[in-house]
Amino acid sequence: MSKNKSSESVKVVVRCRPLNRKEESNGPAGGIVQMDLRLGQVILRNPRAPQSEPQKTFTFDAVYDPNSKQRELYDESVRPLIDSVLAGFNGTIFAYGQTGTGKTYTMQGAWRDPEKRGVIPNAFDHIFTHISRSQSDKQYLVRASYLEIYREEVRDLLDPNHANARALELRESPDTGVYVRDLTSCVCKSIKEIEEVMNVGNQARAVGMTDMNEHSSRSHALFLITVECSQPGPDGRNHIRVGRLNLVDLAGSERQTKTGVQGERLKEAAKINLSLSALGNVISALADGRSGHVPYRDSKLTRLLQDSLGGNAKTVMVATLGPSSQHYDETLTTLRYANRAKNIQNQPRVNEDPKDALLREFQKEIARLRAQLDHRKWRSKQKKEQLDGECWDEGMEGEEEEEVEKDAEEYVIMEEQRLEREKEAIREDQFLLAEEKQRLLGEKEKMMGDLRKEQEATEQLTAKYKAMESKLLVGGKNIIDHTNEQQKMLEIKRQEIAEQSRGEREMQQQLLAQDEETLELRETFTSLQQEVEAKTKKLKKLYAKLQCIKAEIQDVNDEHVRSRQELEQTQNELTRELKFKYLIIENFIPPEEKNKIMSRLNFDPEEDQWKFQSLVPAESKPSQIKKRPASAVGYKRPISQYARVAIAMGAHSRYRAENIMFLELDMTPPNTVSLDRSTEAETNQSPSVDNSPTKDKGVRKSRSWCQTPKSMTSSSSNVSLSACHMGTPTAAQ
Ligand code: ADP
Ligand code: MG
Repeated sequence: MSKNKSSESVKVVVRCRPLNRKEESNGPAGGIVQMDLRLGQVILRNPRAPQSEPQKTFTFDAVYDPNSKQRELYDESVRPLIDSVLAGFNGTIFAYGQTGTGKTYTMQGAWRDPEKRGVIPNAFDHIFTHISRSQSDKQYLVRASYLEIYREEVRDLLDPNHANARALELRESPDTGVYVRDLTSCVCKSIKEIEEVMNVGNQARAVGMTDMNEHSSRSHALFLITVECSQPGPDGRNHIRVGRLNLVDLAGSERQTKTGVQGERLKEAAKINLSLSALGNVISALADGRSGHVPYRDSKLTRLLQDSLGGNAKTVMVATLGPSSQHYDETLTTLRYANRAKNIQNQPRVNEDPKDALLREFQKEIARLRAQLDHRKWRSKQKKEQLDGECWDEGMEGEEEEEVEKDAEEYVIMEEQRLEREKEAIREDQFLLAEEKQRLLGEKEKMMGDLRKEQEATEQLTAKYKAMESKLLVGGKNIIDHTNEQQKMLEIKRQEIAEQSRGEREMQQQLLAQDEETLELRETFTSLQQEVEAKTKKLKKLYAKLQCIKAEIQDVNDEHVRSRQELEQTQNELTRELKFKYLIIENFIPPEEKNKIMSRLNFDPEEDQWKFQSLVPAESKPSQIKKRPASAVGYKRPISQYARVAIAMGAHSRYRAENIMFLELDMTPPNTVSLDRSTEAETNQSPSVDNSPTKDKGVRKSRSWCQTPKSMTSSSSNVSLSACHMGTPTAAQ
């Protein structure tokens, strides 16, 4: 495989959970997964196949058997990734597997029990401990966001209005790649705060979902942490590195059964696994390496993980398995999926001084507030010294900050006292006129008010400054590291051990691979018999391998057929749905309306939605929209003065063409009157015998607005209608 210098493959580790109680009751034959921890291999037994059939073996970067501890997995496989994120790389960890195999357990675990805390809480510890132990010339800003993808819609889990909020849009920028627009991001200053963010999100996930497990197995959850670090470089300027960490708990990878679903459920079924199958396609395309097109755009998930798969991130995939024989097929699929992902190459690089670093903005804002505050304080100090009678000296600028602050406070107190004294003096001055006194007192009062306002403004500014500053974490300062030396040593030792076992496994795997290759080169035979024996042995070995591969091909074919059948079924159901919608459109929507709607629709590939074009083209400004001419106000169209007068007079029939129709609501029960026979008219008034098709309710009159109702018309088709007009008054008489 061609590897360029900076590329590295996606790390894939596999974890198998213990048998649960129900599975245990099925007897010892339950387990089908064996693991070789030293070599990083998973051996899978097919419970339906005869004993003679060779078992399937897969090799990964690491494997974790049911006895493995959360901490082991973290130290060996996740810690190096988090270290990279802290150094400014993008990193992703995703858990993939069937529902109930331990994805959430691996990612989150049991928070209360330190032994069972999963990757996410351990990562929190790791990040904040790292900050607390780093040098004091480093400044950090840590932010967290939490989202889920459910039915191909991205939802913000930190939005208080999550349940009703509309889906968020994905956007792409040349600097940051794909990002979610308007996603809430919380600045976190401690482990406690970031845990709080996680809890809020988890609760939002549970709220409104009738069955949390059902929901969680159908939605993808992404917890995003951004760590920005600024440090002075050799050039004396501050440089910022931004590491982004995606912690992903994917939806259950099992096939959703789609039998007998309709409408909403069908849509859901079609969408649930869209992201997962798109993920599979992306992995296949990347692992294959031959196909130029990688279908990232097929789903929201793959777009969000674009960087992590074949991009500039470091990625770890944790594939989770169940040991039970019932789920052999799913386990095999997961292993194949994971095996393919191993071949993906990423090109990780450090994000140095990106344009959108929030830390830079924060630093600028803090500096601006600081300058404002300083200016205010210096001004106060300057005034104080003038009050004291000292002469202001530029050379005093080098004074301690605390002293300036003290002086500024003293100035306010002194100024207040001075104003009080002056007020008192004015009050006691008997030579002043009452009016003059009032005016002078008012002036002093105003000066006091100004002084207070000024002081309040300074206090507000100080509070704002402190709040901003507290969001930035300074290495070794804001967070106190409670671990003692002994614990620290223990941690380091544990990390060393993890490092060692990782190295050992890599060596073992390399040795194994080399052994197979060099086997034939080393062999020399002393006799023909020996050669025959050795070659027969080798032949047997190769034959077994061939059988394995043949079985593999058969399996892959079967799976392909199965997934094709499922796709066909989905397609049939969708076609049926489409026909149903067509039927409604063709028969119940007037063609001209339909055409109008169709001509206004266009497809937005960015959002994967059909959208209505606005009636007014976007480029035309509101000012360009034509106004109704003044002559048309109150009329259907512009009309001349002469015509208006003529209408008002009601004289000439030519001008009656305006508003010839008007509708009047009539709430009285329908009444029909026969044309000429009054006896019949009476019978028709009875509702029981009135089957006249012209019987209508509510709106039923239409006539020229200036016509006085005529008594009868000659046209027979108008008979009943005219009769209706007349009906009410007649009946009333
Ligand atoms: P998923 O998120 O994949 O649907 P869960 O993480 O909810 O699965 O796990 C299902 C059950 O299995 C949980 O009760 C969990 O505690 C248990 N479990 C999973 N993995 C392990 C493990 N490695 N050790 C112990 N229990 C586990
Ligand atoms: Mg889960």
